Amino acid sequence: MVRERRCKNCHDLIQIRPQNPNQKYCSKRECQRARKAQWQRNKLKNDKAYRDNQREAGRKWRERNPDYWRNYRKRNPDYARHNRLQQRVRNHRKRGRDNASDLIAKMDASIVEINVLSGGYG
Ligand SMILES: [Zn+2]
Repeated sequence: MVRERRCKNCHDLIQIRPQNPNQKYCSKRECQRARKAQWQRNKLKNDKAYRDNQREAGRKWRERNPDYWRNYRKRNPDYARHNRLQQRVRNHRKRGRDNASDLIAKMDASIVEINVLSGGYG
């Protein structure tokens, strides 16, 4: 008996083999990647040891690459702040608040300010 199911990522039909009855993704590369990402999200949510492990790996990576974020900020001095403000503008727009234009004005001012300062930034 051949069972079929839709891939959770691309919704193509997949044939379920008895060796792998829980298959939820097809064999396409992006779908396997999606499966792995989903697995990791689940694992992070449910497995404290794995979570600690990942955090430790991240910490070690940052120790080995201490200049990465510093250099990144140097290359993109207004990146973080700009993004934060844009997100706030989007949030306000979504809620239909009428002070979004106020925030945009603030955002423009902050970019000017950062550009002025960026010579000595970092
Ligand atoms: Zn697929």
